[in-house]
Amino acid sequence: MAGNWKMNLNHQEAVVLVQKLAWTLSDKKHDYGQVEVVVAPPYVDLRSVQTLVDGDRLRIGYSAQDVSAHESGAYTGEVSAAMLAKLGCDYVVVGHSERREMHGEDDAVVNTKALRTLAAGMTPIVCVGEGLEVRKAGRHVEHTLDQVDGSLAGIDPEQVASLVIAYEPVWAIGTGEVATPDDAQEVCAAIRGRVRDTVGADAAESVRLLYGGSVKSSNVVGIMDQPDVDGALVGGASLDPAEFAAICRYYA
Ligand code: PEP
Repeated sequence: MAGNWKMNLNHQEAVVLVQKLAWTLSDKKHDYGQVEVVVAPPYVDLRSVQTLVDGDRLRIGYSAQDVSAHESGAYTGEVSAAMLAKLGCDYVVVGHSERREMHGEDDAVVNTKALRTLAAGMTPIVCVGEGLEVRKAGRHVEHTLDQVDGSLAGIDPEQVASLVIAYEPVWAIGTGEVATPDDAQEVCAAIRGRVRDTVGADAAESVRLLYGGSVKSSNVVGIMDQPDVDGALVGGASLDPAEFAAICRYYA
């Protein structure tokens, strides 16, 4: 279960959110043992999250929300994969629809970012998913599989097995409009099938597929019931520690 905070919270609020989440997750009444919990704060909070996680041995992983496509050099304002690895990030979100839409990132850029993330020893959370027009035209599976092909090009089979791919229909992000569990399953099954066809059965079995788009504690169970959905990428609802913890114990 990964919580994408986007560009929200001040630094103190970010620290408090991690502390509250950790406190809730340590509640012995609930066994969160089977769920890997990850937060994706803004870059400026990562050092403090690292200190909290390392200092208190919290069972919370953390992710950056993006990474530079470049290794190092004259790229003002960018943050490299090596820098994020140094901060102890486990994951990096690449190709979020907000990056694709507002910053013109195409599959080639997403692919470069995924490769840089892997080379630095972290796991990319590769986001794919269609907009409303594509969905209305019934081309959502084809469109999403094209993004998968483009974003994963040249990644070694063993590395594909360790990836996280998040299917996030753009029309369901931050809109309150959640795809039905069947919609999520249809595309996640197609993604797993594509990994099976292009990389192999082992990679298809191990790759983790998340659904993202207005996930809340009230709709997570139906989504997680789907055989090809392994987790969720949660935006708005991850800013509330009690709500995000409730999403993380969807199985209880
Ligand atoms: C997201 O930003 O990846 C996301 C899924 O947002 P929300 O849960 O708010 O729709």
